[in-house]
Amino acid sequence: MQQITLYNTESRSLEVFSPVHPGEVRLYTCGPTVYNRVHIGNLRTFTWEDLLCRVFRYFGYRTTQVMNLTDIDDKTIKGCVAEGITLGEFTAKHIATFFEDLATLGVTPADVYPKATDHVPEMVAIVKKLEEHGHTYVSDGSIWFRIASFPAYGKLSKVDLSTMQRGARVADDEYEKEDVRDFAVWKAAKPGEPESATWDTELGYGRPGWHLECTAMAMKYLGETLDIHTGAVDNIFPHHENEIAQSEGATGKPFVKYWLHAEHLVVDGEKMSKSKGNFYTLPDLVVGRGLSPRAIRFLFLSVPYRQKLNFTFESLAGAASSVDRLASLVQRLTERAGDANAAPEAAFEGRIAAARSAFAAGLADDLNTAAALGALFGFVREVNVDLEGGKLSPGDARAARDFLREADSVFGVLPPEPASLDAEVEARIAERQAARKRRDFAASDRIRDELLAQGIVLEDTPQGVRWKKKS
Ligand code: AMP
Ligand code: ZN
Repeated sequence: MQQITLYNTESRSLEVFSPVHPGEVRLYTCGPTVYNRVHIGNLRTFTWEDLLCRVFRYFGYRTTQVMNLTDIDDKTIKGCVAEGITLGEFTAKHIATFFEDLATLGVTPADVYPKATDHVPEMVAIVKKLEEHGHTYVSDGSIWFRIASFPAYGKLSKVDLSTMQRGARVADDEYEKEDVRDFAVWKAAKPGEPESATWDTELGYGRPGWHLECTAMAMKYLGETLDIHTGAVDNIFPHHENEIAQSEGATGKPFVKYWLHAEHLVVDGEKMSKSKGNFYTLPDLVVGRGLSPRAIRFLFLSVPYRQKLNFTFESLAGAASSVDRLASLVQRLTERAGDANAAPEAAFEGRIAAARSAFAAGLADDLNTAAALGALFGFVREVNVDLEGGKLSPGDARAARDFLREADSVFGVLPPEPASLDAEVEARIAERQAARKRRDFAASDRIRDELLAQGIVLEDTPQGVRWKKKS
């Protein structure tokens, strides 16, 4: 198996990856807080996590990816109260748009998307273990994790514990960087909080703290020690530091072998914010401006994850032309290959092998996508020249095309092959018909819109549904 190195935030160094279970990678990727439509910064992180899984599969590992849905926290409660609906009604809307965005960007679904609200008993069990091990205390009806009881606190974020004030507490799920406090694992219900956001448990009437949710869902689906846990850099402190304290405080075992964190997406060099007018959701770009989801995906993945991604419309145009160059070469190679089944020339096979090994070496080097794409596009350039010069046999063309498709199993930016495009669209149409039958018009509209975003137009005719490519 290819040796893979990853940058572990905990050791602040590159480490050779070695899984807990041979041949298998179990990852927990922090998911969205479902209180609004996710922004393109969130989506850069989710697309990178998809790439991470695809890279492991490319190298022959089995992957199990869990991505939670944070559907109970300060923000979701505020949202449902403001709209006068239940917590579940409120979060369902945002869960639906989240999945829409993932589909538009061609993100391979995770194996499980657990909701925090479906795992309250597991969370209660962890709090009870923490109580037994002396890590908690009760105050104001809430249960707090005493970080002074966990000497390793700070090992991930390297926060300076000497500035810690003993007994200081914070009720918010998130708090300021460098502000080291005891945090709530169980929050007593406050007046005005809706019933739909409150649970009657052995710990009292209340709800879990945000950090506890991830601890409980990670261990339930992946075991007490996971291979990889990811998020963007803002998750390092306090969220992931607190997850370690709770998980290791409860089990006495290491929680995570490799912590990976992606840098943020910024727009025109600045943090996104609504007031600056540089805040984008995926529909703002795809529906509002007609930009290609494949180009957006390419742009997200072309910048190695530990670098900030500076999103500009210029860089997106560059990404679109790279995707077009790749797609057009694949199409021309397919035409040149025809139906012939001839083998490539030995020398050409050697060139593919060299390109493949440079591509793989880039990915295996802490997902250096810039290096991998450099190798891939170097090959594209050479093959374009050879094809123009009539130097490629049909066998060469077929082998080159197959290699480009193989590389695209990692990047996922090429349109599906024509035959499978038909099958894919037909399958989506069948899903839409089923949704209409059960009168789920929101789902049927969503499928139509997703197909439209891929350039497929549906027409309802008396003979049934027809589809065509948008001209
Ligand atoms: P949240 O819904 O705030 O918990 O965020 C969901 C995921 O998006 C988390 O992994 C965050 O670390 C990540 N994230 C938040 N802001 C950005 C950003 N500007 N760029 C990249 N990732 C982000
Ligand atoms: Zn989390």
